[in-house]
Amino acid sequence: MARFIFYDTHDYEVPFVHEWEKKTGNSVEMVTEALNDETVSRAKGFDGLTCMQTTSLGSEKVYATLEEYGIKQITVRMVGVDMVDLKAAAAHHLTVTHVPVYSPRAIAEMGVTQAMYLLRHIGEYNQRMDKADFSWPADLIADEIYTRTVGLIGTGNIGGATAQIYKALGARVIAFDVFENPALAPFVEFVDKETVLRESDIISLHTPLIPSTRNMIGAKEFEMMKPNAILINQARGGLVDTQALIDALDKKEIAGAGLDTLADETTYFGHEVSPADVPEDYKNLAARPNVVITPHVAFFTKTAVRNQVHIALNDALTIVNGGRVRNAIHGEF
Ligand code: NAD
Repeated sequence: MARFIFYDTHDYEVPFVHEWEKKTGNSVEMVTEALNDETVSRAKGFDGLTCMQTTSLGSEKVYATLEEYGIKQITVRMVGVDMVDLKAAAAHHLTVTHVPVYSPRAIAEMGVTQAMYLLRHIGEYNQRMDKADFSWPADLIADEIYTRTVGLIGTGNIGGATAQIYKALGARVIAFDVFENPALAPFVEFVDKETVLRESDIISLHTPLIPSTRNMIGAKEFEMMKPNAILINQARGGLVDTQALIDALDKKEIAGAGLDTLADETTYFGHEVSPADVPEDYKNLAARPNVVITPHVAFFTKTAVRNQVHIALNDALTIVNGGRVRNAIHGEF
């Protein structure tokens, strides 16, 4: 039986950790602290560890101490490993692993949910019903999804899952990606980016945030969109120029937006903050009936969290037992 320390435990992970312990017969000690210089001593006596933090793992002392304790791995329960000093990890013979894919469907389903909410004008009805107005105004007559064109930008794990859902609903699905994945041919017609912007009724973004994609949707792109277009961004807030989005909604260049991410979200999404600390751009967007915002929870399903926890612990166990794992980071540093 191996023993693991599970740093930075969130209460929603606890049942899935117990489930894994029961399934595999290994034991996991859950602690709420993140791994750093002050907390590394808690790893003494354990065979392995996992963490899930956006803050640095600390100085080289952390890596040296883990090696001294006989630990062979650092398993991060999320995609990004930018908080890990990969050079120090390699110097101290620690294999770093991450969980690159845990449930593309979770994020895809949230995007589709927001698009359907906007397509059927539920925000507008909510606002009207709050004032006891239960009428059927002509400008809220809706479209049905199978008559619509959905355009995706980025067709990796999440974009691909999104394409399959829209295709199953009967929509026409077009997409732009720098890499056209032939496996998606049954679900997607690949076109150029401008065609996605000009022809789509729903535009859904699924690229990483990298220099070439930062602000890829700005004033020029909104001008190309149809006035009935709905923009869906479940990827990264920095893909969209927020002020340009606000202007496009004001000018009725597009019909609505569904957002699980905003460019400045890290200061408030995931936390409870004082109302005074809520940014103006968020308040502006959230007040609109044709905008729906969620606080970066597209990933937050039982399936996704179970997969994060189980994949991380399975990989940690494999390495402790001397095996190799697919999710090890072999990057340049
Ligand atoms: P992925 O790597 O599987 O796919 C990304 C795709 O984007 C690839 O096919 C790539 O070729 C394409 N791409 C890269 N640059 C491009 C460009 N300039 N133009 C067009 N296409 C380009 O990634 P994924 O796992 O599908 O994740 C997609 C996005 O979703 C990422 O931004 C990720 O951070 C985000 N995400 C959000 C949540 C959430 O909870 N909201 C959860 C997980 C991931």
